[in-house]
Amino acid sequence: MDLVKILESKRRLNKEEGEALYELDLYTLGKFATEKRVERFGKKTFFNSNRHINPTNICADVCKFCAFSANRKNPNPYKMSHEEILKNVDEAVELGAKEIHIVSAHHPDAGMSWYMDIFELIKKKYPFLHVKALTAAEVDYLSRRYGHSYEEILNIMKQKGVDSMPGGGAEIFDEKIRSRVCKDKVSSNNWLKIHEKWHNLGFKSNATMLFGHIEDRAHRIDHMIRLRDLQDKTGGFNAFIPLVYQRENNYLNVKEFLGSQEILRTIAISRLMLDNIPHIKAYWATSTINLALVAQEFGADDLDGTIQKESIQSAAGAKSSQGMKFKDFIDLITTSGFIPVERDSLYNELKSY
Ligand code: SF4
Repeated sequence: MDLVKILESKRRLNKEEGEALYELDLYTLGKFATEKRVERFGKKTFFNSNRHINPTNICADVCKFCAFSANRKNPNPYKMSHEEILKNVDEAVELGAKEIHIVSAHHPDAGMSWYMDIFELIKKKYPFLHVKALTAAEVDYLSRRYGHSYEEILNIMKQKGVDSMPGGGAEIFDEKIRSRVCKDKVSSNNWLKIHEKWHNLGFKSNATMLFGHIEDRAHRIDHMIRLRDLQDKTGGFNAFIPLVYQRENNYLNVKEFLGSQEILRTIAISRLMLDNIPHIKAYWATSTINLALVAQEFGADDLDGTIQKESIQSAAGAKSSQGMKFKDFIDLITTSGFIPVERDSLYNELKSY
C-alpha cells in the first residue's frame, strides 16, 4: 500500500489505511495533516473564553479510568447547590467567560431538577452565555435513573436553555475495551444515538475519544470511523477532541506513558481520517499546553479555551486545575507562529489577535 500516493489523492481513507498511517514517519504525517488544516483554516488557531464547572463528583458509575468520582480514589465528595454554581458563573462572567461548560458525575439521587434547572437560572441571569452541558453519558444516566426517554431528556435540555452538548463519555467505542474501562456506562451505540437525536433537533455537539490506556491503535481508528459515519448523516459535530488518558489516582493501572510522538500521530491521523468534522482540538488540559502548541503543526486548529478552572482531568494528574490567563493564551499561540482567533462556542469568529 503506497500511503503517500493515497494521501496525495485526497480521497477518503478506510480502516486499513487509517491503521497503516501509524507506520508513517511523523514528519510525513504532520505534513499531510497540516495541508488539510491549512486548506480549511490557514494559520488560524481557535480558542474561546470559557469556564468548566463540575457541580458534583458523587457518582453511581465506576469507570476504571476515572479519578474524579468520589466513589473511587477521590476522598472528597461534593455536590454544589444552585447558588454555589451561580456564584461560579458570576465569577466566570467577571473574568470574561462567554461559555459555561457543565459536566457532572452521575449523582445517585440529586434529582432531575437539580441537573436541569440550573441551565434556566444561568440563562435568565446571563442570556448571552452559551451553555454547553450534559454529556451523552449523563443523558443516558438520567434517562435510566428517572425513567425518561432520550427524546424527553433532550427536549428538557432544549427548554431549559442548553445550547450545545459537550463530547464527553465517548471514551473508546470498541465494546470489548469499553466493557473493561467503563462497564455499565452508556453503550457506544447509545452514545451515538443520543448525539444523532440532538443533531436532529437542530443542535451541535462535540465528540471525544479517550486514548492511551488499554486500547490499541485499531480501536482508535474504529472510533473515528464510527464518528465519521454519524457525521455523514447529521453534520452535527463541530469538533473532535482526542483526550489523553491521565494515569494518576485511578484503577486502570496503566504503566507505560503514551509518549508525545504517539499523541501527535493520533492528532494528525484524526485530521486525516475525519474529513467531515471541521475542527480538531488539542485539549491542553490533557496533553499539556506545550504539546498542544506543537499539535498545531499536526492538524489541530483549536486549543479549547482558557478553562479558568477544571476538576476532572486535574484529579487524575493533569495540570489544568487553574486554567490559563487570556493574554498568556494569545501570546503562546502567536509566538508559536499561528494566528489566535477568539471564537464563540459554535466557531463564529469574534476577534483575531
Ligand atoms: S467518568 Fe464520569 S461516569 Fe465514570 S465514574 Fe467518573 S464521574 Fe462517574
